[in-house]
Amino acid sequence: MGNIQRNKVKDVLSGAVAVGSEVLLKGWVRTKRGNKHVAFIALNDGSIIHNIQIVADLQQFSDEQLKAVTTGACISAKGKLVDSPAQGQPVEVQLSSIEILGEADAETYPLQKKGHSLEFLREIAHLRPRTNTFGAIFRLRHAMAFAIHQFFNDRGFVYLHTPIITGSDAEGAGAMFKVTTLDLHNIPKKPDGSVDHEQDFFGKATNLTVSGQLEGELGAMALGEVYTFGPTFRAENSNTTRHLAEFWMIEPEVAFNELQENMDLAEDFLKYLIQYALEHCAPDLEFLCQQYDKELLSRLNFVVNNAFQRLPYTEAVEILKASKQKFEYKVEWGTDLQSEHERYLVEKHFEKPVILTDYPKDIKAFYMKQNADGKTVRAMDVLFPGIGEIIGGSQREEGYDKLLARVKEMGIPEEEIWWYLETRKFGTAPHSGFGLGFERLMLFVTGMSNIRDVIPFPRFPKSADF
Ligand code: ATP
Ligand code: MN
Repeated sequence: MGNIQRNKVKDVLSGAVAVGSEVLLKGWVRTKRGNKHVAFIALNDGSIIHNIQIVADLQQFSDEQLKAVTTGACISAKGKLVDSPAQGQPVEVQLSSIEILGEADAETYPLQKKGHSLEFLREIAHLRPRTNTFGAIFRLRHAMAFAIHQFFNDRGFVYLHTPIITGSDAEGAGAMFKVTTLDLHNIPKKPDGSVDHEQDFFGKATNLTVSGQLEGELGAMALGEVYTFGPTFRAENSNTTRHLAEFWMIEPEVAFNELQENMDLAEDFLKYLIQYALEHCAPDLEFLCQQYDKELLSRLNFVVNNAFQRLPYTEAVEILKASKQKFEYKVEWGTDLQSEHERYLVEKHFEKPVILTDYPKDIKAFYMKQNADGKTVRAMDVLFPGIGEIIGGSQREEGYDKLLARVKEMGIPEEEIWWYLETRKFGTAPHSGFGLGFERLMLFVTGMSNIRDVIPFPRFPKSADF
């Protein structure tokens, strides 16, 4: 037989391959069933959620030959593409030759049955990409990553790679993971008993980054419009369905943008991404909508087609205090909103995404631009249904004296962020940015309810397998 190239199931099903031609398919068997005359093999190769049906004529293939074609096995199959008499599939393949690339022991292959729980699938994260659900999620995740670069590239932003190992823990966005090559069984100490980091790899204490923003700002003060898209680490012990210890964050930073333009950018960005998913990932979204969340498609369309509600934190607090809803945490001006409050505003009160602005300065980071009232800063959080905070951002304080005063007030060691402060000394400019948690976006786009199900190999307290 000639050396024909592998065909992807996606192309074969979409009509890109002519009926009547010889095809070569490689993939994993989802099911095999049949009768005395034929065997039907459902094959999936990850290129699309749908399987292709391969029909083996039992006059041509013996039981012995098809014995190893079991759920989970990997096969290479050649045959003729024909119109399918079966419903729900345009074409099928008449098997002419088959090779077993990898057997899967039917006794021990964990994905035999349909309808495993998401909890169980988390324990077999090495195999869960082979399910329809996780195939759909990871294809969508890819599409969103691609669309993020597309969005910024189309607008002239520069993708800036900020460090993953950081020498400062000034940002205060969360507890950090230490990075060290010191021997933990024999830690060098200084005379005062503290760890002698001068003997450490970098000659100082280092951590995994909690945000690329501070370095992003340095880029914006030269390149104008930049964004980062990289892994981010937070060691907080928050065992929630919205927090991971390792997640990905997208952080645009734009010179000359003020809060208003920052909100516009965030809203345009989110709508673009959701629209992209609707346009490019229909089969996967339809599957997830059907299986997990009947409202998914209508919710995605709603967000694309409606303006987000924008209002100051102070007004939101008044709404929450006046509401009849019983909250676990009490709301007072000056306290950080809990996810239950955020979701009340979005899901019950406004029934649409909300952008809250002008938070009390004491619950926000040191770098946010201070308002004239002396009490609030030009922060903006974007709140989404089912999730709460999906984006956190702000206009940055560009005044050197004001920023330095805040650094001192908050007890941030100046020697750690001298380089950040210098941008305000040399050619400072108004600028703004925000951080979008990639997995929070994925929660929204997929309709899944646990953040551990939208990243291939989640890291969370007491779990770093795979
Ligand atoms: P939250 O209040 O929800 O814990 P945060 O205020 O600590 O979030 P920021 O520091 O503003 O978050 O980070 C920017 C974005 O990163 C958040 O809006 C969110 O989308 C995402 N994010 C933050 N922490 C996590 C985490 N532990 N896991 C996944 N995404 C996160
Ligand atoms: Mn935040």
